[in-house]
Amino acid sequence: MADTIFDKIIRREIPADIVYEDDEVLAFRDLNPQAPVHVLFIPKKAIPTLDDAKPEDAALLGRLLLAIAEYARREGFAEQGYRAVSNCREYGGQTVYHLHVHLLAGRHLKWPPG
Ligand code: C5P
Repeated sequence: MADTIFDKIIRREIPADIVYEDDEVLAFRDLNPQAPVHVLFIPKKAIPTLDDAKPEDAALLGRLLLAIAEYARREGFAEQGYRAVSNCREYGGQTVYHLHVHLLAGRHLKWPPG
């Protein structure tokens, strides 16, 4: 499986502003933020895209989403609202092929995205 920049962040080979970590999930601030809060939540397991996730990854994907909800509550913007979105492959706009969920918050987000 191809090594990505996110694998290097997990291994601490390149720096990142890490805001959350547990045994299966890592979260760090996006280098190119699209909102006042823009954090990427990734599984430490190398799953390239959502389409590559298997039934045995169900609990891990649940943990990823629950980690986002918990972070939003802890940081105080859960009531205001936020967006959690995962881009899949070319038409989804995915550029890094290590599954990740963008957490965007801190401004009124438009829908639909471009
Ligand atoms: O969904 P997509 O694959 O396009 O998202 C990748 C994200 O990873 C981008 O928002 C990009 O800014 C971010 N990134 C980062 N740190 C890196 C490389 C990419 O935050 N070193």
